[in-house]
Amino acid sequence: MSIQNNLRTVKEQISERALLVAVSKTKPNEDLMEAYNAGQRVFGENKVQELTGKYESLPKDIEWHMIGHLQSNKVKYIAPFVSLIHGVDSEKLLKTINKEGIKNNRKIPVLLQMHIAEEDTKFGFSKSEIQSLLNAELLESLSNVEIKGVMGMATFTRDDQQVRQEFANLKKIFDELQQTVFAKSKSFTEISMGMSGDYLLAIEEGSTMVRIGSSIFGARNYH
Ligand SMILES: *Cc1c(COP(=O)(O)O)cnc(C)c1O
Repeated sequence: MSIQNNLRTVKEQISERALLVAVSKTKPNEDLMEAYNAGQRVFGENKVQELTGKYESLPKDIEWHMIGHLQSNKVKYIAPFVSLIHGVDSEKLLKTINKEGIKNNRKIPVLLQMHIAEEDTKFGFSKSEIQSLLNAELLESLSNVEIKGVMGMATFTRDDQQVRQEFANLKKIFDELQQTVFAKSKSFTEISMGMSGDYLLAIEEGSTMVRIGSSIFGARNYH
């Protein structure tokens, strides 16, 4: 199967229900260009160096999403151009993104990463952590951050019921935040959940953004 065909299949399944973030990590520029030439404009990467390298060499109308774990000291490299940072998982990171937003004279869009999986290897806030973190004082100080919603990763398991439950839990957290902390914010609208193995489930549970890599570009070789 070609990248173009894979992309068409995935897009047909998603239809208009969610935004497709094509996860191109580890893949060469030619592969991204094949997707680009088939109309894809939103790409996700999980390493800062790879993201900036691809940003510099590929067409400028691509929207770049940072989907991986981000260290505060690397925010400066992506702050000028990144379209969305999915994995914001600490107060320190929020404050650093704000500082870099001020320097670059822009509001940087972010998602708050929530810990929804059973495994404790995955990053993210718990529900109680996020509720105590997001006080009025902090939110007011974040002048150059646009909090657009939440992101989460389900447990890596074949148990669809469990995955569905975890996605439903993320949707519930999103709804609660939208109705309380972000009741006055028109931009708190996004739920980033779903990858190659579980995106249809995620969409059924309310995802607005799916991050799909291997179903489009094929399996990755890590070296
Ligand atoms: C790699 C990655 C994806 C895509 O994974 P696939 O299973 O290849 O679709 C999605 N989200 C994050 C955070 C990732 O690191």
